[in-house]
Amino acid sequence: MRVIGLILTLSLAACGETKTSGPMETPAKAPEQPAAPVVKTDEEWRAELTPEQFKILRQAGTERPNGEVYKQFKAQGAGTYYCAGCGAELFSSNEKFDSHCGWPSFYDPSKAKNVKTSVDYHLGYARTEVLCAICDGHLGHVFEGEGFDTPTDKRYCINGTVLKFVPAGEAPPAKKEVPPAEKPADTGEKKP
Ligand SMILES: [Zn+2]
Repeated sequence: MRVIGLILTLSLAACGETKTSGPMETPAKAPEQPAAPVVKTDEEWRAELTPEQFKILRQAGTERPNGEVYKQFKAQGAGTYYCAGCGAELFSSNEKFDSHCGWPSFYDPSKAKNVKTSVDYHLGYARTEVLCAICDGHLGHVFEGEGFDTPTDKRYCINGTVLKFVPAGEAPPAKKEVPPAEKPADTGEKKP
């Protein structure tokens, strides 16, 4: 227990330190992140996602490669990518790279805790599926050891349709979640 306490203390200290922002830092107005897992029925998801997003996030679908979304992705500058399902921060432009595969590629999640992986056999062989750890939405797959000149040699091959891009310095996506109970309407200032 003492060790856990120490780790917590250290983590908190580390968190505190990251606030001394540098130029690459996410602005202080980063979106309010979901504090707990987001669980919804298919009906609820259908009501708030586009059919394409639903197919990808909830049914492990895949968008067409080299489509409009990919063109937009390639044109995007510095910024952060959030889950279209729940708003959790997933990737940042710092880890974006051009793999020429036709889908948005990152070599590392910006917030590892919001991305999880699991092995799937949908194509008859093992692939590592990438999911949003908060809403359990399917994002894409991660491939390793392909020889890309990146710090991890991993390629998070992600469906751009289920990413929300927020350019650096701009307001984050409006939160569509209405937290159940207790939170009254948000009027005043927010604490960081
Ligand atoms: Zn999500």
